[in-house]
Amino acid sequence: MAQDDLFKKLIAHTKEYGYIFPSSEIYDGLSAVYDYGQYGVELKNNIKQFWWDAMVKMHENIVGLDSAIFMHPDIWKASGHVGAFNDPLIDNKDSKKRYRADDLVEEHIAKYQAKIDKDVEKGQTKFGDAFNKEQFLATNPNVLRNQEKINEISGRLTKALTTDNLAELKQIIVDCEIADPVTGSKNWTDVRQFNLMFETQLGSTADGASKIYLRPETAQGIFVNYLNVQKSGRMKIPFGIAQIGKAFRNEIVARQFIFRMREFEQMEMQFFVKPGTELEWFEHWKNLRIKWHKAMGLPEEKYRFHKHDKLAHYANAAFDIEFEFPFGFKELEGIHSRTDFDLKQHQEFSGKKLQFFDPESGESYIPYVVETSVGLDRTFLSILSGAYYEEEIKKENGESDMRVVLRIPPALAPIKLAVLPLIKYDEKDSIGRRYRRQDAIGTPYCITIDHDTLKDNMVTIRDRDTMIQERVLITDLNMILEEKVSMRKLLKKIF
Ligand code: ATP
Repeated sequence: MAQDDLFKKLIAHTKEYGYIFPSSEIYDGLSAVYDYGQYGVELKNNIKQFWWDAMVKMHENIVGLDSAIFMHPDIWKASGHVGAFNDPLIDNKDSKKRYRADDLVEEHIAKYQAKIDKDVEKGQTKFGDAFNKEQFLATNPNVLRNQEKINEISGRLTKALTTDNLAELKQIIVDCEIADPVTGSKNWTDVRQFNLMFETQLGSTADGASKIYLRPETAQGIFVNYLNVQKSGRMKIPFGIAQIGKAFRNEIVARQFIFRMREFEQMEMQFFVKPGTELEWFEHWKNLRIKWHKAMGLPEEKYRFHKHDKLAHYANAAFDIEFEFPFGFKELEGIHSRTDFDLKQHQEFSGKKLQFFDPESGESYIPYVVETSVGLDRTFLSILSGAYYEEEIKKENGESDMRVVLRIPPALAPIKLAVLPLIKYDEKDSIGRRYRRQDAIGTPYCITIDHDTLKDNMVTIRDRDTMIQERVLITDLNMILEEKVSMRKLLKKIF
């Protein structure tokens, strides 16, 4: 199935089966804002629990926090969000559509990459086993030409972004003859910066309200509480603080369903370490975090690391975990080694000392921070898009039928078990329809009670993925299910 079709079907499916609804739908919706329905909220809660258990419960040196969404406005000056939390935007004068300039260039680069991939595919088909991919990539003139283009444009893009050179960004778009993806027009405005933070007022306007922001990330709530937690919890370095909460960004190009929303949830953990040890910890967290994702059992090849070539000025290492969504590999989680930048900034802007005193060595220092930051909604989307299958199945009478099945990891499924009573007549068809509905919701197990149940105390348990049905004793059910759907089982794959 074409990936575009798959994505459209997935979106329709989530609405039909109570996972996700467009916000304010009866008023024609609100762009890039979504509501989670009766099954969506269960899946979301289960993902949160899986993350919380893996990060907080499984680590004696990590504790949780729930900081407020409203924070002192100076926090966003210290963090750099007021001055620099900007996206470079460009408008198309004909279509009146607005884009992120860097995205347009990235998409243009991806086209050259697609050409290379296509040539490789052709070579593979033509030469079969004799095909040597490395040699082909190193010598084929078409590939070399396209690779050179990629290198040239990526080089210019990175330089323009790191030096905030908006004129050069525009020039790249002009030089590459990039057109509006929707209309094909090349009539562009200049590139401008746009701040992504939502503003609001604290207090009534009459008594001199002050401008505050809805937090664009949860991390700063952790930084400004780091000493409170350290002191009240007698934490020793290294230690971590984890938080799950809403964040708000006035995203310009809010497309791709819940991948990029204006109100979303993050699951972030800031790990405070001794300066000099941060890169070891960075490796540690990078490995543990990808294990967490892979433990869910979706196809492994859908995950990959992406190393940041363009590091923020305060970071000394950064990787993304990317997932292959129906619209390609995209960021799911960021793992960043942020040095002492944030705490130092807060120390300077607040005038309060944020040093850690190490009683063993007698030293005082500002800890370095390794951050893991994953989007809850993106994790949700990764699970649904990795779990959605359309399958042809054979019915007992030899006819074939289609089923849509969500192979959600059993421990995270909104409903673990459906109990289906058999009705008197036409049993086969009606039970088949009920199974289909549970498959579409992603319920891992169904139990049917039949006419013999009262006599032999047995029921039929049916597995969502294999569709195998077994008769088991009611008294064994607890044990069987506990083994299959427990969160502990998921955690055991990581630790
Ligand atoms: P992107 O480059 O896709 O805009 P980002 O690098 O700005 O993401 P971070 O600031 O590192 O993202 O935020 C950490 C995580 O929060 C991301 O990996 C993503 O999962 C999630 N996230 C960020 N912005 C959004 C959004 N608008 N909607 C949903 N999730 C988001």
